Amino acid sequence: KCRRQRWFKTRPSRGRVGSIHCCTNLRETKQATQPVEEDWSYPVPSEYFDRVTNHHVKNIEEYMRIYERSIRQPDEFWSDMATQVLSWKQLWDKQVCSYNFDVKRGPIFCEWFKGGKLNACYNCVDRHVEAGYGDQVAYYAEGNEESSDLRGYTYRELLDYIERLASALKSRGVQKGDVVAIYMPNIPELAIAMLACARIGAIHSVVFGGFSAESLANRLMDAKSRVIITCDGYRRGEKMVPLKTVADTAAELAREAMGNNLVEHKIIYQKLNPTEYSVTMDSHVDEWWHDVLSKSEKHCAIEWMDAEDPLFVLYTSGSTGRPKGIVHTTGGYLLYAALTHRYAFNYHPGSVYFCTADCGWITGHSYVVYGPLVNRATQVIFEGVPTYPDADRLWKISAKYKVNQLYTAPTLIRSLMRFGEKYVKNCRRDSLTLLATVGEPINPEAWKWFSREVGENRCPIVDTWWQTETGGHMILPPPVQGFYQKPGSASIPFFGIVPVVVNEKGEELSGECEGYLCIKKPWPGMLRTVLGDHSRMESTYFSPFRGLYMSGDGCKRDKDGYYWLTGRVDDVINVSGHRIGTAEVESALIAHGSVAEAAVVPVPHDIKGQGIYAYVTLREGEEPTEELRRALKHAVREHIGAICSPDVIHWAPALPKTRSGKIMRRILRKIAELGTNVSQSDLGDISTLSDPQVVETLVSLHGK
Ligand code: ATP
Ligand code: MG
Repeated sequence: KCRRQRWFKTRPSRGRVGSIHCCTNLRETKQATQPVEEDWSYPVPSEYFDRVTNHHVKNIEEYMRIYERSIRQPDEFWSDMATQVLSWKQLWDKQVCSYNFDVKRGPIFCEWFKGGKLNACYNCVDRHVEAGYGDQVAYYAEGNEESSDLRGYTYRELLDYIERLASALKSRGVQKGDVVAIYMPNIPELAIAMLACARIGAIHSVVFGGFSAESLANRLMDAKSRVIITCDGYRRGEKMVPLKTVADTAAELAREAMGNNLVEHKIIYQKLNPTEYSVTMDSHVDEWWHDVLSKSEKHCAIEWMDAEDPLFVLYTSGSTGRPKGIVHTTGGYLLYAALTHRYAFNYHPGSVYFCTADCGWITGHSYVVYGPLVNRATQVIFEGVPTYPDADRLWKISAKYKVNQLYTAPTLIRSLMRFGEKYVKNCRRDSLTLLATVGEPINPEAWKWFSREVGENRCPIVDTWWQTETGGHMILPPPVQGFYQKPGSASIPFFGIVPVVVNEKGEELSGECEGYLCIKKPWPGMLRTVLGDHSRMESTYFSPFRGLYMSGDGCKRDKDGYYWLTGRVDDVINVSGHRIGTAEVESALIAHGSVAEAAVVPVPHDIKGQGIYAYVTLREGEEPTEELRRALKHAVREHIGAICSPDVIHWAPALPKTRSGKIMRRILRKIAELGTNVSQSDLGDISTLSDPQVVETLVSLHGK
């Protein structure tokens, strides 16, 4: 049953914060026919409240009350949260927050809880063991192979390994403030390595286990890492990844460029059977993880950090250009990751939570390591890929560990939809209570499939919008009683977040509108700088619009105050003066039953200025015919209007994606322009692609 409710109405805000308020005006709506339709809304399923009785927030009215307080009395709100959620060695002595978002007034900065002392590892692990929860499982570990015996860890075991690794790092000269690189597969030892750094005040820089030697070398040099923690190699699906060999090459490249004090130590976790795969060890630099840990001190003192001391540096996905080394600090980030994890997923200790993200990207940092561990979660960490050995892997894992909350990505849902429902139906899903996504807008078609096929229409779908830079969720549909979800809309702001939509001149728009999504007030989880390049932080996020954090994403706000992400502002297509967001056209294509995935980019057009160029991946068993091409163009015309109908449809067996699953539109734009004044050598940096081969295939299909 479809109902609509005007929960959020936006008043002209005249620069005020907290312009969203709650009003109740429930009425039935007609069935909508369009794929992106603001009027489609579904209440959070009532079965959710029958099955889950513990709620951090009772209902939408309470959510709004908390939100209002977080905006009107931010200092009181955040200091209450900080003391409730985290354990502090010493409370902050000055203001809760001080900041400057205005480039004209001096350097951009933001500080939270300055003077407060705490340690991230202590908050994630030690305190739970001290409180008697040492035997609780922290990680169930699922390997690449279904038969693998990858080990899981209780909180006590986690602590034991962290302490020994932390002592080892210290005895190898790692000090507070040094950057340690971590280049590992997605296994619990990766979390152990991160937390060992946090324990001694070292800053970790996790690099995706699939990145090339060159990408790794760049990151080693950027952060001047003297130590790297890696592993011999691992299998990802059918593919063998020779991690140590890549790390060796990267270390050499870095040393050649910057001198021998880079990568003085490598600690190598042995993942593979040495009789099947052996690596060469350089006795001056390389040591095995198991040797190091067995010889090191069992206990390692905690380094109490200032709330504003850096916790880690992490590079953005690189979807829009050269990745930026985003720096997060200890107090604000930790609080924000934990609080969003707690409220977005309504997490309570005892339930089993599974986030499919790799720790090599921010979702893994905030929602596989820091957020869940602060909240004493029991979780599943998965090393492999969702289609290996078969397309039912995620559902099988969910059944095996009786997962309650599942957090994944739209790209993954779409790729599994491609294989049809039978894989889902074969597995029990009755443990699942809540489903969530991150990474891109979730197309309404994928939303509905996820809700219906996976969640059996009884789970809330929490579509979380956020960025590496924001540290944690910013906009999401809270899974609370009385809230109406709209498929495809990330919905409403989290506590303390003041989103604003501005036009090209930076003027704040009110009510129903479309423009650039910016954030007006500081929040604890925000980035503090770009490593080694504070001016890049200022020019990227704060120069475009005075006094505002610019997200780089476009969005619409509807009449109910819900936010709809329309795509990157750089990707907006301008057809005869009409600005068209990529997300809407892609959703219309995906709504056609034969399409699995679509990516839309602009292409120069003599008359219209820009035309729409669509890459389309078909579902299993569908044939790319001229008739289908016409049908797809027609479908877009019908759904959103003739102006949005693609000029070109390029059949794409696969799309170029970053390792975190994001479509790299900047490469697609270049391929679309091939033959005009663009050649293959102009494709730019493709080093963060998960499969560079895809690019060649697409080039070969150009014009076909
Ligand atoms: P780079 O900044 O290097 O180009 P990136 O922006 O892809 O890389 P991330 O920080 O991993 O790096 O991704 C954040 C971006 O992902 C957001 O700016 C937004 O475009 C997109 N995104 C994430 N979650 C959502 C969501 N729920 N809805 C819409 N878009 C989302
Ligand atoms: Mg970005």
